[in-house]
Amino acid sequence: MRYFGEPWPGAPEKPAATPVGAPCSICTLRFIPDDRGMLGGEMRGTRRGGIEGRYVVAHRECYMLDKIGHDEGVCECTRGRRSPHEKRADALALWARVAEE
Ligand SMILES: [Zn+2]
Ligand SMILES: [Zn+2]
Repeated sequence: MRYFGEPWPGAPEKPAATPVGAPCSICTLRFIPDDRGMLGGEMRGTRRGGIEGRYVVAHRECYMLDKIGHDEGVCECTRGRRSPHEKRADALALWARVAEE
């Protein structure tokens, strides 16, 4: 994975250009120049027990939401369907609670 925007503690080593105008893989909102996030290919398990590769480009907070949202009670199965802005707000709140405590 690479990061874009201003670096932060725990960000990946390699920088990338901010994909302004592209949609976040998680919340679907489009990136603006001030955003910070992660992009790259990663492997993940499927519900059928297999493994698949996918390309992810996401706000750093949304990326975290996707990884630990279930354990933290802010995923689809605990919060239900959300609008992109609701999902983004949940991600920002999760980041404030977990990453910057
Ligand atoms: Zn996002
Ligand atoms: Zn869940």
